[in-house]
Amino acid sequence: LASRELKPESSTVTAGSLSVGNGTIGVIAGPCSVETAEQILACAHAVKSAGATALRGGAFKPRTSPYSFQGLKEDGLKMLADARDETGLAIVTEVVSPDDVDLVSEYADVLQIGARNMQNYRLLEAVGKSPRAVLLKRGPSATIDEFLLAAEYILDGGNPNVMLCERGVRTFESHTRFTLPLATVPYVQQRTHLPIVVDPSHGTGHTSLVTAMAKASIAAGADGLIVEMHPNPDKAMSDGYQSLNFAQFEQMMSECRRIAEAV
Ligand code: PEP
Ligand code: MN
Repeated sequence: LASRELKPESSTVTAGSLSVGNGTIGVIAGPCSVETAEQILACAHAVKSAGATALRGGAFKPRTSPYSFQGLKEDGLKMLADARDETGLAIVTEVVSPDDVDLVSEYADVLQIGARNMQNYRLLEAVGKSPRAVLLKRGPSATIDEFLLAAEYILDGGNPNVMLCERGVRTFESHTRFTLPLATVPYVQQRTHLPIVVDPSHGTGHTSLVTAMAKASIAAGADGLIVEMHPNPDKAMSDGYQSLNFAQFEQMMSECRRIAEAV
């Protein structure tokens, strides 16, 4: 179902204010985690004024350590929905369990499947039955064939609104958190009609590398970006070291706009 042979024209995925694919570039931005109502509202206003199209924020966080902040759960979802009410921005947030799909679908416009869950087939089936669009992140050790077959689970479940997301893979290199393979963008666009967005935040793991890789993603033809930003990255409860502050995010947006006009 994902194959371009079967459907030669590129798909556009639309969810509220967010539209990606077929020439429309969508930018999803916000903090790694929803922390407080004030924090997510401040992010929402900064995202909107910089010209991005959707707000991200994790309420259910899949953390490497069980002792790390696990997210605000339903309270966080409510804060995201309030931010949508105030700004009109579509909400993108992760769902980590099939049991939570209905709950997260009540509040979110787009269900994010995290890298760690790319091959959680029961979860893929569950979001395949949701009326919400899905952002499917590539597993850090998954091949592109495995990635596309994971998307196939969601499409086969009856949900056609799938966006793919390259967020970096695990290699021998340790200077960046993951290694971000941008050839995924044109390769996936040749194989499938689904839009592909790039996550330069998790893909690099360093604030100072995010803007360059965001621009490179747009130059490579990416259909969108998902970027972590925070009012005070040094104080973030997760992933502050790879988050942009508001001024850096605005600068990234204006540099990306210039690249988008040139390609
Ligand atoms: C995230 O988007 O904050 C996240 C946990 O991403 P990933 O699943 O790509 O690690
Ligand atoms: Mn994160």
